[in-house]
Amino acid sequence: MTGLSTDFRLPVACPTCGSHRMRVSQVRNPDDKVFCASCTRYVCLYHEACKVIDRGPGSESEALIEAAANRKG
Ligand SMILES: [Zn+2]
Repeated sequence: MTGLSTDFRLPVACPTCGSHRMRVSQVRNPDDKVFCASCTRYVCLYHEACKVIDRGPGSESEALIEAAANRKG
């Protein structure tokens, strides 16, 4: 991974390891990829993470993350 990255908490857990701690580049562009800080799996794009943070935990948020994570970036 290149450049500096920063961690944040996502209301929805990583589909692989269940961690809520995510990692994104420090510039936080909307199209930057968000990775799980614990298992480094690709989870979603940063604008999708923002949507989930705004919305909070719930089935819609989980569905959004699941769809994004399965897209494989
Ligand atoms: Zn993980």
